[in-house]
Amino acid sequence: MTGATSSSASPQHGLTDRLARWARGLSGKSEEDAEEEEVEQARPRAGAASNREIHRRRQLYEDIGDFLFAHDLDLTPLNFGVALDYLTGANIGVEKAIRAVLMERGKITNGWVEAVAAEQRADEVTPESLATMLDKVEENLSQFTGLMTESRNSAKDYGAALQEQAKDLVAGGDNETVLTRLVGLTRSMVEKTRQVEGQLRENQKQTQALRSSLETARRAAEHDHLTGLPNRRAFEAVLREELKLAQEEGEQLSVAFCDIDHFKIINDTHGHDTGDRVLKFVAGLLAKASNDRCHVARHGGEEFVMLFRGKTAAETCDAVDRVREDLATRSLVNRTNGERMERVSFSAGVANVLAYEDPRGALKAADRALYLAKEHGRNRVYLAAEAD
Ligand code: GH3
Ligand code: MG
Ligand code: MG
Repeated sequence: MTGATSSSASPQHGLTDRLARWARGLSGKSEEDAEEEEVEQARPRAGAASNREIHRRRQLYEDIGDFLFAHDLDLTPLNFGVALDYLTGANIGVEKAIRAVLMERGKITNGWVEAVAAEQRADEVTPESLATMLDKVEENLSQFTGLMTESRNSAKDYGAALQEQAKDLVAGGDNETVLTRLVGLTRSMVEKTRQVEGQLRENQKQTQALRSSLETARRAAEHDHLTGLPNRRAFEAVLREELKLAQEEGEQLSVAFCDIDHFKIINDTHGHDTGDRVLKFVAGLLAKASNDRCHVARHGGEEFVMLFRGKTAAETCDAVDRVREDLATRSLVNRTNGERMERVSFSAGVANVLAYEDPRGALKAADRALYLAKEHGRNRVYLAAEAD
């Protein structure tokens, strides 16, 4: 199968779109003028590839400068980074936040950039943030264990002291003194219990906050940022669970690899931003089929995977083919210039998971079927031969 390569598409078109929109806002140019400009700039330029690359980099550099000066932003690494993220579309969070603030106020300030960068950092699940969270969990746990030991020890001490006093009572000592001591003992025990209770409540609050941070981190680690679909990692876990369920219930289980056709051309023609929107659109279309017996995930790049429990491989082929047809008969419009896009389609390979010793074998077979679907013309769904 044509795995997603690391060759990145030129951000030039998306960049031009945004700058044109932004410049339109600054110069008060009419919509028609601006659209003409966009179309003009979207045309492929002649010249050697290396010249184009140099031009693209120089243009990006100038665009970053224009952006910073238009918003009167200081020349700091942070502002450079945010402008770069926005103009290349490299960081969806930054892009979204900037778009929103431009719509609302039309201007960005140094303080705002700092706040957005801090927010992005807080959202990021980095090994460092995970390590900090785990440290906190550990700390909380040992605090909890400490509190429990303390509470058990003081209950033990209280019991022993009570027994001592009870002995005195039986021995016929000074009852008033014994009673005063008992009251004192009980008071200090009540005070101690109150203290431990307060600390436990605090500990519980922290545990709750940690649980929610860990849940956010887990979700982020298992979901694809762009499409919101589960990612490959999450899919692998689902595949293991669904396989177990299918075996227990004696049900069918089939897998489909779907790969957008000529996606590189879409990126090259319309820009990376439009490519991203196409990816989201296709993801949404595939996700419409999902339920508790159909799982859809982004496997990587422009490749999605679907897992059907309770459907034979042939039935899965039909189900995937319906989605394929749905997409292939739509005519999508490039939102940035209102132009109709060439048809978008995907090819797919389907395999019966239970026909292989290991689910990885089924994935490989589906992959090979996908490769054949591409070879034989694309925009088609192929079933893997089980002897594969
Ligand atoms: P084929 O029909 O053979 O699958 O051709 P293709 O062009 O779809 O396949 P190829 O593997 O050559 O190119 C895939 C492209 O997908 C290259 C890569 O830049 C692009 N891509 C991967 N992930 C993303 C993404 O998140 N956003 C955008 N816009 N493009 C992406
Ligand atoms: Mg691919
Ligand atoms: Mg492709």
